[in-house]
Amino acid sequence: MGKYAVLVVDIINDFVTGALGCDRAHLVVEPAQRLLRAARKSGVPVIFCNDAHIKGVDKELELWGDHAIEGTKGAEVIPELELCDKDFIVPKRRYGGFFQTNLDMLLRELGVDTVILTGLHTHLCVRHTGADAYQLGYKIIMAKDATQALTEELYQTGLKYFEEYYGAEIADVDTVVEKYF
Ligand code: ZN
Repeated sequence: MGKYAVLVVDIINDFVTGALGCDRAHLVVEPAQRLLRAARKSGVPVIFCNDAHIKGVDKELELWGDHAIEGTKGAEVIPELELCDKDFIVPKRRYGGFFQTNLDMLLRELGVDTVILTGLHTHLCVRHTGADAYQLGYKIIMAKDATQALTEELYQTGLKYFEEYYGAEIADVDTVVEKYF
């Protein structure tokens, strides 16, 4: 039996309804909500890896425009995911959840060896988070209905990349909950 944690990448207001929102982002809301409710019930840690950019400073904003500025509504977890006291928030200023954050230390101290990845977008921030998870030696499970990308093609190529290069298990939320929680 592994020790699991759910990583929720950028399911924040600006990626769903705000500055970088897109229709497909809404597809993750209900499955992610179901996954997080089950995780909390089973004592599996829920860790939000949230963009929290510094306006006028972060290089990434030159490419994407202002989004998820630290301290704004846009940088908050969407209300549907019911952020609670036991959840963790790890702010990030780049694509990946591990890059210059305390995520690795947090996971190690929680005894986690397998991360269940969810969030936006499959081929971008979720993938960069997956790259470091893989390189640091974590096993990866992709909750495939709780992640999305800007297009179907980017979603599919994102999932395929996870499977081929990070050895990730690709499974839907119901399977993850049944098998691991
Ligand atoms: Zn960003």
